Amino acid sequence: MSACAVCDGALPFFRNQPLMVIGGGDTAVEESTYLTKFGTIVYLVHRRDELRASKIMQQRAFDNDKISIVWDTVLEDAVGDQFVTGARIKNVKTDEVKEVEVAGIFYAIGHTPNTQPFKGQLDMDKTGYLIIKPGTQETNVEGVFAAGDVHDHKYRQAVTAAGAGCAAALEAERWLGDQGIA
Ligand SMILES: Cc1cc2nc3c(=O)[nH]c(=O)nc-3n(C[C@H](O)[C@H](O)[C@H](O)COP(=O)(O)OP(=O)(O)OC[C@H]3O[C@@H](n4cnc5c(N)ncnc54)[C@H](O)[C@@H]3O)c2cc1C
Repeated sequence: MSACAVCDGALPFFRNQPLMVIGGGDTAVEESTYLTKFGTIVYLVHRRDELRASKIMQQRAFDNDKISIVWDTVLEDAVGDQFVTGARIKNVKTDEVKEVEVAGIFYAIGHTPNTQPFKGQLDMDKTGYLIIKPGTQETNVEGVFAAGDVHDHKYRQAVTAAGAGCAAALEAERWLGDQGIA
């Protein structure tokens, strides 16, 4: 099971196997589309009868022969011992439960950045990602810099977080120097 198709999708045990993505937003469609490069089929399991994804992303899913959308359905359980061999899914309208053979289950149900302690102090967007000044790691509070998954809703990768951390550290050091502190 994985929370990141870009991180794990290319692993050998997902290749030429049926895969499953849980979700219905842009991320779920993006992850499903990406996984079609590796899997034989990608079941996109969504709890409602329409996707929350933008129209253009929805069309991308509908046009892709390797994406099979399973409507009104939730994941009940993952099946398998050391590795996933299937998924137990339930139709929320009929209560029908069935088992589908898949080698991987990918969660794409959204991310919540861990920024609550800074609410009311640092500017953030409506989903909680900190807002930094473009081209810098500066927040709205002088001397406070942000780096990583707390501000990056686009890439959310270890290497981009580390790069932002490096930039934030350099900016912090420069700021301290400007204050005559370091
Ligand atoms: C399941 C999974 C698989 C992933 N696989 C990959 C992958 O293969 N490749 C890849 O590039 N990326 C992967 N990622 C994404 C990657 O892990 C993140 O993008 C990266 O770790 C973000 O780094 P960060 O420093 O911003 O945040 P984090 O790594 O989350 O670090 C935040 C730190 O802050 C600490 N913290 C939180 N609150 C407080 C507090 N109040 N006080 C003090 N400390 C606090 C936490 O304990 C944590 O140590 C994966 C993520 C997940 C969830």
